[in-house]
Amino acid sequence: MTLLGLVQAVYILAAVLFVLSLAGLSRQETARRGNALGMVGMVLALAATIALALDRSERSAVVTAILVALVLLVGAVVGTRQARSVEMTQMPELIAMLHSFVGAAAVLVGYNSFRTEPADTVHLVEVFLGVLIGAVTFTGSVVAYLKLSGRISSAPLSLPGRNLLNLAALVASAALLAWFLAGHSIVPLLLMTVVALALGWHLVASIGGGDMPVVVSMLNSYSGWAAAAAGFMLGNDLLIVTGALVGASGAILSYLMCKAMNRSFMSVILGGFGAPEGLVVARVDEDGEHRELDAAAVAALLREARSVVITPGYGMAVAKAQYPVAQLVTRLRALGVDVRFGVHPVAGRLPGHMNVLLAEAKVPYDIVLEMDEINGDLADTDVVLVIGANDTVNPAALDDPSSPIAGMPVLEVWKARQVVVFKRSMATGYAGVQNPLFFRDNTAMLFGDAREQTERIVAAL
Ligand code: NDP
Repeated sequence: MTLLGLVQAVYILAAVLFVLSLAGLSRQETARRGNALGMVGMVLALAATIALALDRSERSAVVTAILVALVLLVGAVVGTRQARSVEMTQMPELIAMLHSFVGAAAVLVGYNSFRTEPADTVHLVEVFLGVLIGAVTFTGSVVAYLKLSGRISSAPLSLPGRNLLNLAALVASAALLAWFLAGHSIVPLLLMTVVALALGWHLVASIGGGDMPVVVSMLNSYSGWAAAAAGFMLGNDLLIVTGALVGASGAILSYLMCKAMNRSFMSVILGGFGAPEGLVVARVDEDGEHRELDAAAVAALLREARSVVITPGYGMAVAKAQYPVAQLVTRLRALGVDVRFGVHPVAGRLPGHMNVLLAEAKVPYDIVLEMDEINGDLADTDVVLVIGANDTVNPAALDDPSSPIAGMPVLEVWKARQVVVFKRSMATGYAGVQNPLFFRDNTAMLFGDAREQTERIVAAL
C-alpha cells in the first residue's frame, strides 16, 4: 500500500470516529466517550496529514518535521493554558475566539492556494468562496469574542439601512467574483477580502442581547464551511468531511436554539435585538411589590415541601453555586423530598451550560429534566427554586406580546405553589427585560450571592 493509500484509509477511519463522537456528545451519559473518540480521530488525522506533508516536502523532511513540531508545540502550550484557565462562564468567548482562527486559516489557505495552484475556474471559485466565508467568520468571531467578554458593549449596533449595507456587500462580492474569474488577478480577491471582513464585523455587531447564543452557534457553522472550503482547495477529503459535519451541526444547533427562543433565524441574522445586561428597569405597574425571605425561612419552606423543582440559570454559573446546590439536593432527598431540575435550552451562556455544571457537581442525570419534560409538572410542585435564572423563567414571554422576548418558551415556574428567586438585586438578565415573576404573590426573593445563600440553607437544614 502506498503512503497516500494508507493516509486515505486513516482519513476514513478518522471521519467515522468524528461521526461517532458527535453521536456520543448528544447524550450526557455518553458525552465522555464521544469526546474521547473525537480526540482519537483528531490524533489519527493529524498524524496522517503530517506523514503526508513530510513525504511531499520539497525541503528536507527533518526541517519540515522540526517546523511542524514547533508549530504544534506553540499551539499546544497556548491551547492547554487557555483551556485550563477558562471559567465555564467564559466558554462561549473561548469558542468564539477559536472560530476566528478557523476563519483566518481559511483566508490564508485561500491566498496560498491562489498563488501555488493552477488557475482553473473551479479552483478559483473555491478560493474565492473559501476566502469570503473565512473572512466573514474571522471578523464576526472577533466581534462575538469582544462582546461576550464584555470588552465592547453587547447592545446591537443599529446603523441606518443595515440590511441594505449587508446586501450591498454581497452584490459587490458577486461582481468581484466575476472580475476575478475573468482576469485571474489578485486585486478583486483583495477587495473582496476587505468587503467580507467588514461584512463579518457588521453582521455580528448588529446582533445583541439574547441572540448572542445563536450567533456563536452560527459562527460555529460558518467556521465549518470555511474549513470545508479549505479542504476543497487543499484536496483534503477529511477536511471536507469534518468541515461539513461542523457546518451542518452548527446550522442545526442554530435552528434548534432559534426554536427554543421563538425567534426566526432570519430575524436573528438581521439583528437589532436586545439591550445591555444588568439593567435595572423601573417597574411601571403600581401593583409591583416584591417579598423577601431569608435563608432560614427558605429552609423551613423546603422542609415542609414534598416536591421541589430547581431551575438554574446563568447566576448559578457565576456564583459557582452548583456544589452547594448538589449538597442541598442530597440533603432534601435524604429528608424524603422529591427534587428535580428543570433546565431551559438556553439557560446560562452556552448550550448545555447547566447540564455541564450539574454533572461537574455530580448531580444524578436522571433528575435533570429538560424544559418540555418538566413544564407539565410545575403546577403540582410545592416549591420552585429559581437559582440565578431570569429570562428563562419570565412570564412576560408568554403574557406580553410587546415584550422583546415575547413568544420564547419559558419554564412556567409561577404555576408552582411557591417560588423562591435567588439573585443579588432586581437587575435584569441577559435580554435586559424586566421580569414580572418577581412581583407575583407566590414569589419570594432571596437576595445575595447564590452560593452563599445555598450554603446557608444547607446549614439551616
Ligand atoms: P439571565 O442572564 O436571564 O439572568 C441571570 C441572573 O443571574 C441575573 O438576573 C443576575 O441577577 C443573577 N446573578 C448573577 N450573578 C449572580 C450571583 N452571583 N448570585 C445570584 N444570582 C446571580 O439567565 P438565564 O440563564 O435565565 O437566561 C439566559 C439568557 O442568556 C437568555 O436570555 C439567553 O438567551 C441568553 N444567552 C444564552 C446562551 C446559551 O447558549 N445558553 C448564550 C448567550 C446568551 P442579579 O444581577 O440581580 O444577581
